[in-house]
Amino acid sequence: MNKTFQQLGIPAVLEEALGKQQIFMPTDIQEKMIPEMMAGGDVIARSETGSGKTLAYLLPIYANLDGSLRGTQAIILTPTHELASQVYKQAELLAESAGMANVGCALIIGSANIARQMDRLKTKPQIVVGSTGRILDLIQRRKIQAHLVKTIVLDEGDRLLEDGHIADVEAVIKTTLKDRQIVLLSASVDEETRRRAKRIMRDPSMAHAGQGALVPKGISHYYVLTTQREKFVELRKILAGERPVRAMVFINNPENIEVTVDKLCHHGIQADGIYGKSGKLERKNALDAFRSGKINVLVASDIGARGLDIPDVTHIINMDVPEEATFYLHRAGRSGRKGQSGVAITLVTPYERRWIHKYEKAWGLQFVQKEMSYGELIDSKKTKKDLDVGPRERKADRTNGAEEVKVVSAVKKTAKAKSLPKNEVQEEPMGFLAKKAKLKAQKEENRRKTPKK
Ligand code: AMP
Repeated sequence: MNKTFQQLGIPAVLEEALGKQQIFMPTDIQEKMIPEMMAGGDVIARSETGSGKTLAYLLPIYANLDGSLRGTQAIILTPTHELASQVYKQAELLAESAGMANVGCALIIGSANIARQMDRLKTKPQIVVGSTGRILDLIQRRKIQAHLVKTIVLDEGDRLLEDGHIADVEAVIKTTLKDRQIVLLSASVDEETRRRAKRIMRDPSMAHAGQGALVPKGISHYYVLTTQREKFVELRKILAGERPVRAMVFINNPENIEVTVDKLCHHGIQADGIYGKSGKLERKNALDAFRSGKINVLVASDIGARGLDIPDVTHIINMDVPEEATFYLHRAGRSGRKGQSGVAITLVTPYERRWIHKYEKAWGLQFVQKEMSYGELIDSKKTKKDLDVGPRERKADRTNGAEEVKVVSAVKKTAKAKSLPKNEVQEEPMGFLAKKAKLKAQKEENRRKTPKK
């Protein structure tokens, strides 16, 4: 028998607020995490995507807030702006449904107007959600006072502890008092993450939900053997045959997102794209259109895979094989949320097929080979020999379509697409401290190069 929220130590007012959102019983991760967080210690939580992780930490934060005290009591760090605004919305909704008029939350993200954020901070909100670089910047400008902070959450913490982010995360933590609590959550917590977490956490307890099933069980995993050149044709066939309610199409190279969206629209498919470097408004519009059903195909880089909670994503289509095993997990986890079923289809060249075996091993998944035949996704036994692979194709397969990219971008010379980094997976590729260090190094280099008079 599951415990109720109150039995886990959550005040009645918050439980009632959840009821207004049709949330009545805790999920597995909430049941495990809430008591650990309420006890005040550091926590590492691993749970499959879409399992209610956000409320698992928001509820104890709200339960422990001192509403009579103005100033930051909890900082929630996320690796992407989308995830930050999603968490912010849940936090605001919770405060609103609980009638906690004295509790404020501020969304502090890199690409937004800093002056407006400083104005918001003047009201001394108790919760600050956002990206590490901007939050650190504002702490250093003394716009955020960190001495009242009781809890720091690292949402999608494995990403936040990667090189390029970890220095900023450590710097934020250093500005808070020693007795604060640090909570790290992710769908994937590997040995390296644990090792890095030890640097910043004290004797963390583990809250792991599910029986090691990191990808929701309702997702079927398929792969389609094809050539790099044929991938777009396959994508169209799948979209036409499967008629997804909502499909997310993942692409490694952001340069290809715009081109793919254009091509889909050209074929009368309602699609839009999101990637790290698209404008904030463009990304918001694309996500809103996808959520509301105005478009039913969203083309994304891995930034789209992390943490986004979009209901009814029935299909995940990987045009490119994810570059890391964890990326597969996060991409596939965008569907099959809250016990729904979903389909994840990965288009692989013969060269890329080995990755499928890697994911099977890494995550204990079973992939079924499929092909589209007369509008239906059927079991397939196609081999490399059945594909029309010429020498040029073989090379493109090995380079993950890099050759094809060159041809396409030569035709479509948008300055914007050209300026994008080749391998974008991070919202904030370089942290505040890393940027500062780079600037310093550049100055140093210039000084060395300038001949002395
Ligand atoms: P998350 O894993 O935080 O992205 O949450 C996924 C979705 O589950 C969100 O839409 C939440 O509102 C919803 N949710 C969170 N906790 C519960 C719960 N205990 N019962 C039902 N739905 C929930």
